Amino acid sequence: MEQIYFDHSATTPLDPRVVEAMLPFYGTVFGNPSSLHWAGQQAKEAIDQGRRQVADLFHADPDEIVFTASGTESDNMVLTGVAAQYKPQDCHIITSSFEHPAILETCKYLQKLGYEISYLPVTPEGIVDPESLKQELRPNTRLVSVMAANNVVGTLQPVIELARITKAHGALFHTDAVQAVGKIPLLMNVMQVDFLSLSAHKLHGPKGIGALYIRKGVVIEPLVHGGGQERGLRSATENVAAIAGLGRAAEIAGSEMTAEAKRLVTMRDRIIAAVTEEVPNAYLIGHPYKRLPGHICLGFEGQEGEAMHLMLALNEEGIAVSTGSACSSHNAGQPSYILMAMGMDPVRARGSLRITLGRFNTEQEADTFIKVLPRLTENLRHITSRSFAAVA
Ligand code: PLP
Repeated sequence: MEQIYFDHSATTPLDPRVVEAMLPFYGTVFGNPSSLHWAGQQAKEAIDQGRRQVADLFHADPDEIVFTASGTESDNMVLTGVAAQYKPQDCHIITSSFEHPAILETCKYLQKLGYEISYLPVTPEGIVDPESLKQELRPNTRLVSVMAANNVVGTLQPVIELARITKAHGALFHTDAVQAVGKIPLLMNVMQVDFLSLSAHKLHGPKGIGALYIRKGVVIEPLVHGGGQERGLRSATENVAAIAGLGRAAEIAGSEMTAEAKRLVTMRDRIIAAVTEEVPNAYLIGHPYKRLPGHICLGFEGQEGEAMHLMLALNEEGIAVSTGSACSSHNAGQPSYILMAMGMDPVRARGSLRITLGRFNTEQEADTFIKVLPRLTENLRHITSRSFAAVA
């Protein structure tokens, strides 16, 4: 059976060019980058190159990139690293109500320690309104953290405007750009952000490696203490192979971004148009075009409880999609807090299908999906109405 992978927001397959860049570090290049001899220096050169490649993607300086173990770690590092510089009563943090758990759970932890956190609302189209930020800013607001693109609905946030408002107030601005990096341009000379989180496995790089952009001159407390690697901000012997992979993944994403975004937008919009035309109760969740190039989030009116069944039925046909974020698969059947934040009622918020396209997807795969989905939704409708009849 043909296998189709349409779940690139969960993770992406490694690009063979990335694998090639990583292989030497599982063989002949094995040194500890902190060692001063030739073996260490070979590894150090690879780290320097990876840092340059990541920095280039943002038109940033290599010194502004700190390698971490994940997007989650980068997010934790910013929130706790800023908060640790203040007494809880002197530090108010603002975020949005539909961030990834890497942000929301860290905020909950900080709240337990006495820090005050405000959560910005989200419009029904899945966008944070900059006006709402203006109303929440306080004299002791130290940090604002709003994601660049939402992981479930795929909507793009007005990061440039949000950062401008934050900076004018004298606070720091962070964006969790884990879903956006490599897909849309994020240039540090255009955005006034102080911190940006990213994760390699979302851009055809390896898992277990992330990075945090920290603007020159901005100071935070380290999250991991130890031998002083990564300018003392993230101690631990570096994962050289993964850094080489992230660097190459960033380089490829940067050079192919414009053409790839165009290709994915065309495929995305073709799928949305076909599905909403052929499946009578299907509708697009989130803004129609302020969204990631390959990101589709669909609702099915009256069949909200069936999203998991639909996902499993697609899986039977070899098509991998998800019902929300990969993390939320643990909360199957519960209304999504992300959709609830967008003002959906709990019934509608129970069911959505996330279809996220990537580099190796083809138009033929889109054709297969467009053919298969209407049949499966129709089958499910029959099963649902039959079981309702049986209950009645
Ligand atoms: N932030 C967002 C928006 C994400 O989508 C994810 C992963 O899905 C993360 C953070 C966490 O990244 P990682 O899996 O590298 O910890």
